[in-house]
Amino acid sequence: MENFINGTWVKPHSNQYADVFNPCSGEVIETFACSNLQDVNDALSAANQAFKSWKKMPVAQRAVLQHKAANLMRQYAERLANTIANELGRPIAGCLTEISRSADLLDFYAEEGLRMKGEIPLHNLEGEKALIIREAIGVVVAITPFNYPITLLVMKLGAALMAGCTVVAKPSEDTPISTLMLADFFAEAGYPSGVFNVLTGWGAEIGNALIEHPITAKIAFTGGTSTGKRIGATAAMHNKRVTLELGGQSPAIVCEDANITTAATAIVRHAFANSGQFCYRVNRVYVHETQYQAFLEKAIELTQKLRIGNPFSNADMGPMVNQKIYQNSEVQVLDAIEKGATIKTGGKRLRGEEFDKGWFFPPTIIADTNHSMKIMTEETFGPVVGIMPFKTNEEAIALANDSEYGLAAYVFSEQLGTGLRMAEVLEAGSVWINNISRSYHDVPFGGVKQSGIGREKGHYGIEAYTELKTIYMNY
Ligand code: NAD
Repeated sequence: MENFINGTWVKPHSNQYADVFNPCSGEVIETFACSNLQDVNDALSAANQAFKSWKKMPVAQRAVLQHKAANLMRQYAERLANTIANELGRPIAGCLTEISRSADLLDFYAEEGLRMKGEIPLHNLEGEKALIIREAIGVVVAITPFNYPITLLVMKLGAALMAGCTVVAKPSEDTPISTLMLADFFAEAGYPSGVFNVLTGWGAEIGNALIEHPITAKIAFTGGTSTGKRIGATAAMHNKRVTLELGGQSPAIVCEDANITTAATAIVRHAFANSGQFCYRVNRVYVHETQYQAFLEKAIELTQKLRIGNPFSNADMGPMVNQKIYQNSEVQVLDAIEKGATIKTGGKRLRGEEFDKGWFFPPTIIADTNHSMKIMTEETFGPVVGIMPFKTNEEAIALANDSEYGLAAYVFSEQLGTGLRMAEVLEAGSVWINNISRSYHDVPFGGVKQSGIGREKGHYGIEAYTELKTIYMNY
């Protein structure tokens, strides 16, 4: 497919295209344009031109367009879901959920945008006042990963557009097609040309140009911590604003008084959804020593019920998106075995006619782990979870916080007070107590430590695409 710039499909200046693969079969399903610096300049210039009038459009009119785009996503959900399933390998039901949740998020941001407000401090100075207003920040570059290609873009796009910014999106090389389809829906909804552009290509080749370009006002990035740090460093050199949503290594604590069925059900569901390819999944579990055996048995029983297969086969889990992501799981399992851990279920690449052409790794539980092992300290981004016993709540908190990451954490205790006390000291952007729901649209999402800078969602998400201006008045 070609790039979508200034409301039309445009060939890349290089005239070169790269393949997009189906991760179940290894077959080529599409191609994406390999953009170069000229394409970057074209896309940013189109967004900059569009910004001049988009920022002046009444917010209520922007909201009408955004609701239309959300409805088109719902109308074309099946087409878009099939595309995600083919480029990512996730079961089709999960792809449909991604689209409906993303459409809801667009609707939410549209309404939240209508509630943006300024301030007037009451200084009580005669003939003087100050107005504090918010202005759109400018052209936003949205760089996204493969794992939730639509949701992670909409988290940026829906907020930026309502704030009055225009956007150049750079999707992952693994899953660019769904993002290009989204551009088509936005055009059909009636967005002016240049407001939402999609540029594909290799991040390492065009990333710097997108960040350093004088037109770019902000980079909104979701992806790996090392990529994010590089982007943050380049952005800082050029005084560009950033929101960085990076990696995670999220701990769950199962206390002595936890309901084991509730904890195991939530943790197994969350650790293995999307084949473990998401940032705030449960990566490691600390279980009070008195509950350790019971928890393990329940978690193994639930894990062994999960079906693995292609997206259209009624499976719960698909393959890993590519060899590089697959290898994290394999390396971490081998490392844990070498250091004395026990594989309770899974642990080896799946083989057989259905699996041989894809990167299928089974849901894997590793018991008797410790912090010398990669599974307890490095991001897996795959369907492997490490489990370790603890004696006291203080020890559990120290272990949970013994990580460079700080995206999410989970606590299971029948005493809400225990859960809240732990939530207050856990170093994470979000903490769930006694169940693990999806992150809500109206609350902030983001990380501390090496998991990122800034917050998406809620009014916080929209404000992140505005800059404050103070107007002093004498009258
Ligand atoms: P990645 O960092 O390899 O790639 C993400 C995006 O960055 C892609 O579009 C890629 O083309 C682009 N990119 C690569 N190098 C670049 C450069 N030098 N300059 C600019 N852009 C560049 O990540 P991935 O493998 O696609 O996704 C997995 C990672 O994403 C995991 O670490 C995961 O934790 C993280 N993630 C974080 C969140 C969150 O909200 N915190 C959500 C999902 C995924």
